[in-house]
Amino acid sequence: MCTPSSVEPVETSAFARGAAQVRTGRRTLLRAGGAGLVFSTVAGAPAVAAAGAGTRKRAYVLVVDGCRPDEISPVLTPNLHALREGGLSFPEAASMWVMETIPNHVMMMTGLRPDRTGVPANEIFDRALGEVRTMDRKRDIRTGTVIGRLNRAGLTTGTVLSKEYLYGVFGDRATHRWEPAPVVPVSGHAPDVFTMDAALTMVDELDPHLVFVNLGDIDRFGHADYTGNDVQLARRTALADTDRQAQRFVDLLRSSGRWEQSMLVVLADHSMDWSRPGDVISLQGALDADPLLAGKVAIADNGGADLLYWTGAAAKRDAAVRRMQRIAEATPGVLAAHDRRKAWLRLGPEAGDVVVFCKAGWRFSEPDPTGNPIPGNHGHPATRAIPFFVSGGHPAVPRRTTSSAQARTIDVAPTVASFFGLGKPRGGYDGRARI
Ligand SMILES: [Zn+2]
Repeated sequence: MCTPSSVEPVETSAFARGAAQVRTGRRTLLRAGGAGLVFSTVAGAPAVAAAGAGTRKRAYVLVVDGCRPDEISPVLTPNLHALREGGLSFPEAASMWVMETIPNHVMMMTGLRPDRTGVPANEIFDRALGEVRTMDRKRDIRTGTVIGRLNRAGLTTGTVLSKEYLYGVFGDRATHRWEPAPVVPVSGHAPDVFTMDAALTMVDELDPHLVFVNLGDIDRFGHADYTGNDVQLARRTALADTDRQAQRFVDLLRSSGRWEQSMLVVLADHSMDWSRPGDVISLQGALDADPLLAGKVAIADNGGADLLYWTGAAAKRDAAVRRMQRIAEATPGVLAAHDRRKAWLRLGPEAGDVVVFCKAGWRFSEPDPTGNPIPGNHGHPATRAIPFFVSGGHPAVPRRTTSSAQARTIDVAPTVASFFGLGKPRGGYDGRARI
């Protein structure tokens, strides 16, 4: 789920930690732009990329959160459509499981699968804490990111992330970070117009070599979407607005002369699937009714995926895994229940013992049908297809080209690294450079 289900206490929130970093001198606050936008910057870093610092190349990654590839069209999103047609597009592109926001943003910026990053889902059962929590802590990412690699190469970076948990998990890695405000209290995200104001100001005044932007409106309207026509209209309105915001970004690159030096990667982190009120799966009751499993399974509900964690004796784990799989697969609406240790899943122990995906048109709701009232969800294979295209005026970007390759979210970091001529991390990337 994308709902901010585990709200941190105020004193440990990402915002409070950011404020503490400013207080202790690790970052400095910078007001920029007519709107008084607030950025924090690594203490001692140049406020603006020094002229000639490395390269004039610029890379921008624009995430249209939760956008389906079939929603990009000449009528509804003419600007995104024109960008896609003019550059290098990947119609077969895919999000990676678990098809949730945090793991896929982490995969974009690391180029690595969750068994290496430590971030397999939005919600996990934290065995040390003994509770389900959101993966929104900076230390949740165990590996380096392309942001850090650029910084170490003497280049500057910026993050403009509209969601509180993304702001939390990427923390203070970037040279420049937008302090997102105002955040909509219920959804925990900043509307796209504010996010784009911040992105434009960051590019205009701080000019980082890499800027990573998340636009959250389409996803948020997707979650609120019922299959009725009225709310579909709200999502179309959000799509049209996000399209206008993307064009503002392109307009700035063109009017400031940056376009010819730029690579612009546009993609979604996952798509969206809608379920009717009755098409809801709750496994907690059935698991607790089983003599072996009763009271010994914790569930992290990720909307389109349930992660099941055996909390009983280690000696009984194999039997418990088989039992959990059998019960889950006998439940209407379940697509598959995988033993998490299967090598191809590459999810790592943070994802628990059994990974359960729902069919299209269903959702998980734990511990009972009231747990997840949101009709729009992702995390399951039905939400795998994403828009993914590379645009920009830099000569390295192919023009009017369609590739049959399956680009994936893990390809973003290697693509950015390759564009800047940076090498690979130890162990190599799991994704591949797409230009
Ligand atoms: Zn998302």
